[in-house]
Amino acid sequence: MADVTIDSERKEEVLECLQDIRDRVKSAGATSSPILVAVSKYKPASDVLICYEGAGQRDFGENYVQELVDKAKQLPAEIRWHFIGTLQSNKAKTLVSIPNLHTIQTLTSTKAANLLNKALAEGPDAHRKLNVLIQVNTSGEDNKSGLSPLSSEPTADPHPLLDLATHIVDHCPFLRLQGLMTIGSIEQSIHAQEGNRDFETLLRTREALQEKLRAKYPDTTDTFGQDGRLLVSMGMSADFEEALKAGSDIVRVGTGIFGGRRTKEEVKVKGAA
Ligand SMILES: *Cc1c(COP(=O)(O)O)cnc(C)c1O
Repeated sequence: MADVTIDSERKEEVLECLQDIRDRVKSAGATSSPILVAVSKYKPASDVLICYEGAGQRDFGENYVQELVDKAKQLPAEIRWHFIGTLQSNKAKTLVSIPNLHTIQTLTSTKAANLLNKALAEGPDAHRKLNVLIQVNTSGEDNKSGLSPLSSEPTADPHPLLDLATHIVDHCPFLRLQGLMTIGSIEQSIHAQEGNRDFETLLRTREALQEKLRAKYPDTTDTFGQDGRLLVSMGMSADFEEALKAGSDIVRVGTGIFGGRRTKEEVKVKGAA
């Protein structure tokens, strides 16, 4: 931690933005107390430390395993890290090796669930439970990962989302199914004021899954979610206020706090030009 140095001008800038986002989260009219995850991908560890020390921010999100491993090593153990990137099964063990990894928001397969569970079982902290959210592809876009939404219609067919959820509860004692996450389409985000169909789809999916899980596990109030309620993670810089109004429990804000970032694609394009 000693080698993370903070620039005072940057500190002022980031803390001002974080305060603004927090104010907007507060006034968005959410019913419960939502979790603000500060998405720090591509940003230096010093930006994270600014929020941690200067504003008591504890929840941070990262998309890339190696970047998360490197930052976690340099930063306080009290940070709650959320992994929000594409989850590759072969990275399960590396992720679990981060002692303060708090939640994986992007689980989409039983294979990854099994590998995470196994790595946790073999890990040093036998009592540790890792929170997982299942990612749902609410917009149906090919470039988004996630399982298909679920409807409340009774159906005899197995559904991948229900299968994964029950697999976690039945076979992954080291994982805790906290809820569902979506990214959603940009189009829906731009027109979010008129109602975001992706948010609505995630909320409907949550209700349907919750209902089916409650029916399957009637005697166990503490098997999934928070007090038997599944949480939803939806809303980013462009649409977190709409998401909160719609009932989001977790919002993930990067640009709004840390400013713009060059994506991998931009780096590639600019590098080629
Ligand atoms: C990058 C990212 C965010 C943050 O996006 P901003 O628009 O910068 O707020 C949130 N969620 C996921 C899954 C992301 O990859």
